[in-house]
Amino acid sequence: MESNAQKYSHAPVHDVVVIGAGAAGLWAAATAAKRGLSVLLLEKTPRTGTKILASGGSRCNLTTTLTAPQAAALFGPKAARFLRPAFDNLTPVGVREHFAALGVPTVEAPLEKIFPESQRAKDVRDALQKDALDAGVTIAYESPVTALVKACAISPGATRWCLGVTGRDTIASFGVPGCGAEKVAEDSGFIFANHVFLCTGGESVPNSGTTGDGYAWLEKMGLQILPPVPALAALTSPDSWVHELSGIALEPCSAKLLDGKGKRIAERRRPVLFTHKGLSGPGAMDLSGHVARGLQLDPSARYTVHLDLIPDHSPEDLRGKLVDGAGQTGRPALGALLPVALPRRLLAAVALAAGLPESIIKRGELPNLTKSGRHDFISTLKALPVNIDGTGGFAHAEVTRGGLALKHVNPRTMEVNGWPGLYVFGELLDLDGPIGGLNFQSAFATAQLAGESVAVAPAHASEG
Ligand SMILES: Cc1cc2nc3c(=O)[nH]c(=O)nc-3n(C[C@H](O)[C@H](O)[C@H](O)COP(=O)(O)OP(=O)(O)OC[C@H]3O[C@@H](n4cnc5c(N)ncnc54)[C@H](O)[C@@H]3O)c2cc1C
Repeated sequence: MESNAQKYSHAPVHDVVVIGAGAAGLWAAATAAKRGLSVLLLEKTPRTGTKILASGGSRCNLTTTLTAPQAAALFGPKAARFLRPAFDNLTPVGVREHFAALGVPTVEAPLEKIFPESQRAKDVRDALQKDALDAGVTIAYESPVTALVKACAISPGATRWCLGVTGRDTIASFGVPGCGAEKVAEDSGFIFANHVFLCTGGESVPNSGTTGDGYAWLEKMGLQILPPVPALAALTSPDSWVHELSGIALEPCSAKLLDGKGKRIAERRRPVLFTHKGLSGPGAMDLSGHVARGLQLDPSARYTVHLDLIPDHSPEDLRGKLVDGAGQTGRPALGALLPVALPRRLLAAVALAAGLPESIIKRGELPNLTKSGRHDFISTLKALPVNIDGTGGFAHAEVTRGGLALKHVNPRTMEVNGWPGLYVFGELLDLDGPIGGLNFQSAFATAQLAGESVAVAPAHASEG
């Protein structure tokens, strides 16, 4: 009787099967197909690039004005070292040039951002999808991969990759003909590949299709997964005065995160927004990965964000302005003497936090401010403390912190060490950057390396 190995020895083997048609998967699939490889792109949902469509307020902040080294540095020292080969190979300028060549010119925006000139995220997604299709990539929708192993039961001893896939059409069109006996169910079967691009993303916004599927497969291979936590999410605060300031936006602002012992953990100079639950805006969201990781390690940990409401002026500068104002006739209101217009509600909150009566603000009683009162007021303007007890969670996080440990991946190729033919890139890796087009830059640049590096002559072509 024919063995399974004999039965499938002539089964079609794709040069590359890409798992996940997000930013990274679309880019890498096109890159590999342009090099003459047969590429099948399997996507779980009915569409490609769901997060691209939602990104940047549906405008898609697709990269940054920063240089490659500056952009990589924002991921932290270890990740920066890992990302340098990818960012040097595909710089932020290179990403812009690529989109321009695809018919999507880009423009600069404040805070080092780059958007498509049309301000439409859909143009970015459509261009990547068309590029892949034009290069010959076959895209199979609603085709979730359910398993990924090196050699499976139906091809024992083989070194090619075996993927379990569901979706009746997928099996009929792209699977192994006649593998019915091995089907788990009518709509599930196997697909073989010489190389696998695994780019299923993280766990953020799981209803978009990213439910962390890649982690379990990699863990089964004995690879380390840094536990995923939400990042680039809003921060929640138990302080009711913070909720009452909902709607107030601070720009400029600098936000400093401190742990329960007052140790500085991180700082971002970016706009901050008060919400009915706490703090949002890039300045707060950029700090959220630290809070989520800290609370995961110790759920009783305490955090505080100090908001510098007037970051462009030193305490001495502010003191000079208030002292000068006290000498003026007409009793100018305290707020009017500050170099930045801050809402009265916010100034009242600052006065309270500084231990001063609210009337100081309400009635503009500047001359009554004592020297120590002035000192406390200025110190609080420069570091308004907001207690933080959590984040908005995965449902609202723009990215995931954690993922496949970088030590397992060759930073020049994205191939997984010890697993020839398996490439992991994009957000599935333990990489997350701040807001500002950095995460797409990382997805595109790591995808480019994988697409360029995969062997043109299939490594295991002759194997059954
Ligand atoms: C609301 C929002 C706004 C954002 N805005 C920006 C921005 O402006 N700029 C920026 O740089 N970054 C932004 N990001 C982050 C950015 O979208 C991600 O970092 C980036 O999309 C990661 O790309 P990826 O290809 O690795 O993963 P994803 O884009 O998440 O793609 C993964 C794909 O894999 C598919 N998949 C998952 N499991 C399976 C499976 N088992 N089988 C088959 N397919 C599977 C998913 O359905 C998905 O299509 C934003 C994120 C969100 C949520």
